[in-house]
Amino acid sequence: MNRKKGYFFRHDELTGNEHVVLFHDGSVLLQGDRYLWPAVTLQELELQDCHSLLIGSFENRDCVALTLSDEHLSCLDVVKQTPRQLLLSRGLHDFTLVGQANQLLNWQLSHRFCGHCGGRTSPHDHERSLVCPACKLHFYPRINPCVIVLVSRGRQLLLARHNKAGSSYFSCLAGFMEAGETPEETVAREVREEVGIEIDNIRYVKSQSWPFPSQLMLGFFAEYKSGEIQVDGHEIAEAHWYEPDQLPLSPAAGISVAGQLIELFLQRS
Ligand SMILES: [Zn+2]
Repeated sequence: MNRKKGYFFRHDELTGNEHVVLFHDGSVLLQGDRYLWPAVTLQELELQDCHSLLIGSFENRDCVALTLSDEHLSCLDVVKQTPRQLLLSRGLHDFTLVGQANQLLNWQLSHRFCGHCGGRTSPHDHERSLVCPACKLHFYPRINPCVIVLVSRGRQLLLARHNKAGSSYFSCLAGFMEAGETPEETVAREVREEVGIEIDNIRYVKSQSWPFPSQLMLGFFAEYKSGEIQVDGHEIAEAHWYEPDQLPLSPAAGISVAGQLIELFLQRS
């Protein structure tokens, strides 16, 4: 990092050399197709009330996230995209910095007050944490682990359509880890709860940060052991076994670990 200060800084601490990812009302602001703004181009804006968060470095420059107000927006010629739209249009590789920025800004916004005493938190001097001055509690960016699993039966894949409105994709099964569980236990429980089958040979494959706003997806393969598909009707609308050459509409490998698990399985079968 070029800066010697911590992870939080005021608008007047921007040197002009940084790359900035701009947000407004949860959306990313793009100039043309560019989402990294040179800080020097923002010098005309009145940024007094804006606080910036250091999210990493890119091309040897600090990269910071900044949330703008309605007034700022009227001064800029921008296109707005939600982080999810940006991921879908750019793919995973080009999304990392925006994903980190989205995750960290959400964390900062939801930890303005101490969960113990209700007092206002303050940025730590040199750590990426928010501190309650009264309780001395430190609040770090929260990461929520989830599992995602591709279940197979011979050459067949189990894919499910989520119950979310408008969801037309068939994907792997997934769910949040609960306190006290190992990821493998979560995998077995989620599959049992969502589609009513038992599985075997659960093995970790790969992971992915999923910053909407703070999940870490742990990807697994597993094999069918017993039972008939019986969807829970709440989270899952329908689930079926699919032959590799007859797959329904499913996630792309360039977007999500679900797509990568499906692609890996097809390559190996
Ligand atoms: Zn407190």
